This record gives sequence, structure tokens and C-alpha cells, in this order.
Amino acid sequence: KPKVVVVGRSNVGKSTFVRLITGRKDVKVGKKPGVTLKINEYDMGEYILVDMPGFGYMAGLPKKIQEKIKDEIVHYIENHADEIAAAVQIIDAKAFFEIVERWEERGEIPIDLEMFDFITDLKISPILVANKMDKIKKEEWDEVLDGICEYLKCQPPWHQWKFIVPAILKEGKGIEEIKKKIIERVRLFKKLRN
Ligand code: GDP
Repeated sequence: KPKVVVVGRSNVGKSTFVRLITGRKDVKVGKKPGVTLKINEYDMGEYILVDMPGFGYMAGLPKKIQEKIKDEIVHYIENHADEIAAAVQIIDAKAFFEIVERWEERGEIPIDLEMFDFITDLKISPILVANKMDKIKKEEWDEVLDGICEYLKCQPPWHQWKFIVPAILKEGKGIEEIKKKIIERVRLFKKLRN
């Protein structure tokens, strides 16, 4: 079965997403970051959903462990690239800019962008979920989403890029759109593989 991987830094709403899409209540939301180093796989019928540990800065988590988590994710994706139909990357739309700017000031490549580039370099189809849109005023949505687009080196307007999905996952908003895109990618992947 094709795999669909779920990635994102910690606290972006990744567990909320996995809980929504799998319907499993045993996925812990708002848990202490860094406790799940485990890669969880869920059989979704047409595909396997692979929940990766959250990456990036987490309070109280040594830099060394952060690096280890990132390496683990990178290795998994590299080793399974030819079985991966899509990668759902979740970002916190509000926190995104602050984080990106902070990293760029230090002359480092922001981890979210690094992950996005890594996925697309491997020719894996991305689904970028801009979560927590409830924290952004409705009239600023387009501006924020266009800004995210530019950071990803994609020309605005954002809505011409079918892989960007704004969401408010804590209210279940955006989940149907994500599900639809996953199924599209999985079916296309199967067709191209045969
Ligand atoms: P994870 O660390 O990425 O797995 O994130 P969680 O799913 O555990 O969520 C982290 C926190 O963000 C929790 O307190 C969630 O309730 C909250 N959260 C998730 N989705 C949203 C959203 O759409 N908007 C807002 N404001 N908070 C959210």
C-alpha cells in the first residue's frame, strides 16, 4: 500500500490532524512535546498513514535529540521515497513567520522550509496545511497565505497552488479538503506505478 507521511514541527496540530483523520481517540493532543519519538503507522484502507514525530525546537529538549528526530524523519522518508504517495506538512500559519525570520537572522535555513524542499526534491507530492488560521483575521488570510507561498518559492496568489490548504483543525475545518487531496494523490500514485 502507498504511504502518506505526516510531518510538522511540534505543537502545530499534527496530533489533532491524525486524530481527526484516523478517528482514533488514543492519539494524544496537546501532549508534552518530545515524548513520541515513535513513528506511528495507521492502515487507512487505500493507504498507510505514517505519523512522524514532531521536529524542531521543543522546550526542555536538548539540541542533540532535536537533531536525532530530524535525522530519523529524513532517513525514513529517503528510505521509503518510492512508496510515499504524498506528504502532509502542517505548519502553524501564525507562528510560521516569526520562526522563519528568527532562523534567517541567524543565517540558518528554517527547518520548515528545509523539510518542504527535502520532500519536493524527492518528487514527493506535498500537501501543505496552514493550520491555526483562526489566529489570523479573515481579511489577512490572503496576505498570510501568499507570504507562505513566497517562502516556499512559489509565485502568489496562493490559491493557484493546489497543495496549500488553510485549516482550523481544532474545529475540524479543512479536514475534508485534506482527505480529498490525499485520496487524489494516492490514486494517481497507484495509477502511475502500475
Ligand atoms: P502537535 O504537537 O503538532 O501534535 O499538536 P497538537 O495536535 O497536540 O496541538 C497542539 C495545540 O494546538 C493544542 O493545544 C491544540 O488544541 C492546538 N490546536 C490544534 N489545532 C488548532 C487550530 O486550528 N487553532 C488553534 N488556535 N489551536 C489549535
